[in-house]
Amino acid sequence: MVSPTSTHYTLPFSSGNFSAFVKPRKPDGVDEKKAYFIGSGLASLAGAVFLIRDGQMDGKKITIMEMDPIPGGALDGMKEQNRGFVIRGGRELENHYECLWDLFRSIPSLEVPGASVLDEVFYLNKDDPNYSRCRVTHNRGEPAKAGNRFDLTDEAMNKLRDLFMANSEDLEGKTIEGELGEEFLESNFWLYWQTMFGYEKWHSALEMKLYLHRFIHHVKGEVLPVSTVPNAR
Ligand SMILES: Cc1cc2nc3c(=O)[nH]c(=O)nc-3n(C[C@H](O)[C@H](O)[C@H](O)COP(=O)(O)OP(=O)(O)OC[C@H]3O[C@@H](n4cnc5c(N)ncnc54)[C@H](O)[C@@H]3O)c2cc1C
Repeated sequence: MVSPTSTHYTLPFSSGNFSAFVKPRKPDGVDEKKAYFIGSGLASLAGAVFLIRDGQMDGKKITIMEMDPIPGGALDGMKEQNRGFVIRGGRELENHYECLWDLFRSIPSLEVPGASVLDEVFYLNKDDPNYSRCRVTHNRGEPAKAGNRFDLTDEAMNKLRDLFMANSEDLEGKTIEGELGEEFLESNFWLYWQTMFGYEKWHSALEMKLYLHRFIHHVKGEVLPVSTVPNAR
């Protein structure tokens, strides 16, 4: 029988649960170490929790340093007396935030005994699902009639594919506009993308490529070239 506390052993990467749910052995010398994180954004907070949970470091030995008056970085927030808890911008989460959900299953709920924050988020979505009756508006409140269609021309689709496949190094300093062109910028795909992720046409093409990789599973359905769709523009 191998002791779960014997020799330190690096967990192998695998895509399944076999290694994902194994409790890591306590790293050698962790009790003599301290950790410092620069910045109090999600990356530092998540890193600190994983260090406590998986690295088994005492939380008192972890210091997070922040230069801004409000902690939280891009996800800062504050409690305002008459408005409640306020954060800037809406937040979209999805079911493949593997690290986040793994993290949240370890954080106990403040309000529901025995539940985790993952449980709370999951059941909130079951009990009080939210959806949009209109995806995008323009002209001060008129629905943008995109008709749930991407309306990508053959050329726009080819350029999008090329961006998806491009080497990251080749995209340094390049813009979305420069890589994807006018036909793409006129498509409903861009309208949806831009309003979902807050993109501008002068933003980084590399950033767009990385987001495409990250969220491609949300691009649902058959993407037909405009030329094959009857009555397309
Ligand atoms: C309006 C808005 C909406 C968003 N919506 C979503 C969404 O729906 N879904 C989603 O997944 N993501 C969303 N994001 C992105 C997400 O919030 C960020 O990717 C994430 O919060 C970044 O975390 P981070 O820790 O990597 O960096 P940051 O949050 O940028 O944290 C870095 C921290 O380090 C501090 N810092 C930097 N240098 C120093 C220094 N030298 N000394 C001390 N402190 C320093 C900064 O002040 C900052 O607090 C959104 C972002 C914004 C702004």
